[in-house]
Amino acid sequence: MADTKIDFNDYIASIPDFPEPGIIFRDISPLMANGKAYSAATDRITAFAKAHGAEMICGPEARGFIVGCPVADRLGIGFAPARKKGKLPRETVSVKFQLEYGETELFMHKDAVQPGQKVLIVDDLLATGGTVAATANLVEQLGGIVVGTAFLIELKELHGRDKIKDYDLFALMEY
Ligand code: AMP
Repeated sequence: MADTKIDFNDYIASIPDFPEPGIIFRDISPLMANGKAYSAATDRITAFAKAHGAEMICGPEARGFIVGCPVADRLGIGFAPARKKGKLPRETVSVKFQLEYGETELFMHKDAVQPGQKVLIVDDLLATGGTVAATANLVEQLGGIVVGTAFLIELKELHGRDKIKDYDLFALMEY
């Protein structure tokens, strides 16, 4: 186990007005750059995944990969990526959802999750919840069972958890 006394907030850079005025961007790259902090964060999400019996980790591109892949590796289970249009070469399922401005679409390979498989959905940050709700929809289209959602950061004031209240939720930090 990595050091559990780490204050993870010390490894998040907050950048006002990025990518546009009024948004405070929470940058996880200092956490990723620090081996101890990255490992300790991975430990915490791995413990949540294990407690929920996850058999597969699923994350949306791109930072969901950064957070989810090391968890899958720790547990010796697979990782299923949810990707934007035009990235996956084989047969896919898809879901459209609303962003703050406009609409977008996420895709997963049809064989990325097996029917009945227990899946934990992971991303770096929960904002409005649209991305994680869409990812959960894809997993469920494939017959997977979403056993929980896990994030490094939850932006409380956006109430994203209301969109995914059917699932148990873990967030390492709150802003
Ligand atoms: P949402 O679908 O609104 O929950 O947005 C979540 C996705 O957008 C995550 O994959 C985040 O990487 C990204 N995101 C949204 N807001 C922020 C923010 N303030 N700082 C960093 N990333 C963000």
